[in-house]
Amino acid sequence: MLTFCSPAQQAHAPALELVNGTAEDHAETPARLANMLAQMAAVREPADFGLAAIHAVHDPAYVAFLQSAHGAWLAAGRAGDAIGYAFPVRGRRALDLERIDGKLGQYGFDTVTPIAAGTWEAAHGAAQSAISAAEALASGEARHSFALCRPPGHHAGADYFGGYCYLNNAAIAARAAAAKGLGPVAVLDVDYHHGNGTQDIFWEDGRVFFASIHADPRTDFPYFWGHADERGAGAGEGTTFNQPLPRGTGWAAYEGALGRALDAIARFGARTLIVSYGADTFAEDPIAQFALTTGDMRAMGARIATLGLPTIIVMEGGYNVAALGRNVAAFIAGLEGT
Ligand SMILES: [Zn+2]
Repeated sequence: MLTFCSPAQQAHAPALELVNGTAEDHAETPARLANMLAQMAAVREPADFGLAAIHAVHDPAYVAFLQSAHGAWLAAGRAGDAIGYAFPVRGRRALDLERIDGKLGQYGFDTVTPIAAGTWEAAHGAAQSAISAAEALASGEARHSFALCRPPGHHAGADYFGGYCYLNNAAIAARAAAAKGLGPVAVLDVDYHHGNGTQDIFWEDGRVFFASIHADPRTDFPYFWGHADERGAGAGEGTTFNQPLPRGTGWAAYEGALGRALDAIARFGARTLIVSYGADTFAEDPIAQFALTTGDMRAMGARIATLGLPTIIVMEGGYNVAALGRNVAAFIAGLEGT
């Protein structure tokens, strides 16, 4: 599998996240990337395509905030990672705030997604990996490609960060692929958590289909999105397809949901598939509660391959570091039929 990863993606190393009433070691570590890289046969550094494809998804003012946030944090006399503590009720009017703490709340939605010294460089590098993966399909070099992204992206919206995500790599790949004539595009999100950012970005965009299989948001992050009755709006009415599943879900029930998602993608007429792949559906993931095995990851890849579409895999979550690389390798092997 042609794989893209930027050395800059290791620069993001937040120390702590505020969760479960305490400050815990951050789960989204550089060690995750190292474990995956060790399993990949050939990894290519992405070209730098600049900000155009990022701005096709994200508000330029939000992108400028990400670039400057940690510097503003230091300039305010703080040390360590920038993390917000005050958040607006969404739907409040837009305000032109000055202090970094206000801006962190304006653009963030949780306390588990710090902006560290290397966060922008890493997020930018991951986005370039996603753009390069789309370019590889557009140029005809590959039929399948893998954007080995870190930090992940599917919780980031057009103008917000959260859930360990800053730039939405899958959405950037989807828009880049469509711009290169590879549409219609479908995004299939198989991370344990609902891809709320991707859903929001394409909510009213009938050109991109979004299907997600995830833990029921009544019990799991991100809580406020991913419910079964969310189906898109306007031109996007009916192009969002959520299948929340209960904690403890194993392969038999998961495979049924996957089949329904693939049927919907086929009916939409997608010509290119983006898979937001998270390995946190693994039974031994420390922060998630599904029950898939490494063998099930292979079966998932093989089932997705039955669509027969050119496919870009975009890496999302997965927090059992020791098992992460082999779960990703199993999924890729299934998709490639090797
Ligand atoms: Zn996840």
